[in-house]
Amino acid sequence: MDLLQRFSFQGLPIRGQWVRLTETLSGISQYKNYPLDVQALLGEMFAAVTMVADNLKFSGAVSLQSQGDGALIRSLAECRDQQYLRGIAHLAEDLPTSPSTNSLADWLGNGQLALSLLPDKTTGMNPYQGLVAIDSRGLAASLEGYFANSEQLQTRLHFASARGATTGLLLQRLPDAPNAAETTVTQAEDDWQTLTTLAASVTEAELASLPPEQMLNRLFHEYPCELYNPRALSFRCTCSAEKSDETLMVLGREDLLALAAELPEIHVDCEFCGKRYAYNQMAVDALLAKRAATLH
Ligand SMILES: [Zn+2]
Repeated sequence: MDLLQRFSFQGLPIRGQWVRLTETLSGISQYKNYPLDVQALLGEMFAAVTMVADNLKFSGAVSLQSQGDGALIRSLAECRDQQYLRGIAHLAEDLPTSPSTNSLADWLGNGQLALSLLPDKTTGMNPYQGLVAIDSRGLAASLEGYFANSEQLQTRLHFASARGATTGLLLQRLPDAPNAAETTVTQAEDDWQTLTTLAASVTEAELASLPPEQMLNRLFHEYPCELYNPRALSFRCTCSAEKSDETLMVLGREDLLALAAELPEIHVDCEFCGKRYAYNQMAVDALLAKRAATLH
């Protein structure tokens, strides 16, 4: 099962998150055959959105989207309700050469990366989108920069992808208590330096394979660390027959009727999960009749 676990260091304003995604990535690879590096990149994007979503105080979605002129034209990773993941990557069709790394910058070319918070309508909150400056070292470094600049939070992120799984490790320095003594703040800063140095010593093989308790124990054994209950994550699409109807109705009545006369069946394919919504002539008539009834 795909899981996210938070942890914190006793008495220190430093928290962490660990996430491992396997089933989500295999769910996606069942209908999309991405190169391994793209799968790894999507895995990192998924790990990142689950970590951000885990901290949200409202219901809704978090997404990370890229757009560029490189081999990776567009990508999207989304985490809804802090547990449901879906995502997609659009690759250029005739690539002269694909980058042989999972570096975001190499795949993206000249492009943009944006992080969006999309609260559910019922919350009455506005959506938010922030641009993530792309660091040539990769997604982890890009997001560290984003957290530092947009949220004034020092953050260290590590990702590892192996055998169809992606694991992420995050450490974040929380704000000091407003009345914290100077010596306490200095000590916390020293501990942060030590902990992030220790975290950076994790090998990709360790990060990709060790269970969280064991990894935290190996990395930070001198620092008492509390690991909280895991949160289950799963691959799930939010497409539906209703949304498919909406997509079809965008064509307008005349064009829809013309298309229905021309084709034995009209198909609306969900690009995220591959699900096909099919409409024969009868279904199109029924849809139009239903719309006409609701309009009057
Ligand atoms: Zn779908």
